[in-house]
Amino acid sequence: MQYLLLCAAILLPQSLAFPARLKLESWSNIDLQNVKVYLDKFFPLFTKTDDRSLEERIKEMQRFFHLTVTGKLNAETQELIKQPRCGVPDIAQYSTFPGSPRWKKTHLTYRILNYTPDLSPRKVEDAIKRAFMVWSDVTPLRFQRISRGNADIMIAFARHEHGDGNPFDGRGNTLAHAFAPGEGLGGDAHFDDDEWWSETNREVNLFLVAAHEFGHSLGLAHSNVRGALMYPVYSYVNPATFRLSEDDKRGIQKLYGKRSSNS
Ligand SMILES: [Zn+2]
Ligand SMILES: [Zn+2]
Repeated sequence: MQYLLLCAAILLPQSLAFPARLKLESWSNIDLQNVKVYLDKFFPLFTKTDDRSLEERIKEMQRFFHLTVTGKLNAETQELIKQPRCGVPDIAQYSTFPGSPRWKKTHLTYRILNYTPDLSPRKVEDAIKRAFMVWSDVTPLRFQRISRGNADIMIAFARHEHGDGNPFDGRGNTLAHAFAPGEGLGGDAHFDDDEWWSETNREVNLFLVAAHEFGHSLGLAHSNVRGALMYPVYSYVNPATFRLSEDDKRGIQKLYGKRSSNS
């Protein structure tokens, strides 16, 4: 396993107010702004009246990632927030996944709306096809690519704001995001085309990220099990020897059941 380190250059407004009761003098303003943006995006407050301190929220994040729980913005925590990752939040309470949404059918269609310039169309199609096979190998689900009309899972490469209120952030950090099963945007998967997509271990491997995003398209939220495909932080493993973890398998089979032996 190898983490891909990309520079996280987040441009932020210069003045973010923090409650004075927090003893945070030793942290630089830019560190604080980065961690607050990260928490708001990936560990959002539950309600408008949720007034947990920044320290409590850092602890929640550290617990999720199995870091030492200090509530402090230490080196380990700072390193983690710079890792390239998925754009979907990390807590089950997030409003995208209430009520365990799942597809009520096993035959699903997908459509690739556009292509990244980083790979040939054939290579994109191949990576997407293999990413769906990760899930169809262990469930009764079947995926069929269509080239026109409305598919259950619409796949697009996009940059910055792209019409769904979840703008991408340039190169690094958020790599992609996907929507839980449902009508309209439901099931759709978007890939940040400011990344450099590859079929190897260079930059960001499309197959690995697509397999993760399609987990969301099928109804899985993030797992905090390290080594699981649904772990929110990107890490490279060789696609040729990739194996779905037991954790992912249990999750998807809870939603759709196992693949019957004669199919
Ligand atoms: Zn994700
Ligand atoms: Zn999007």
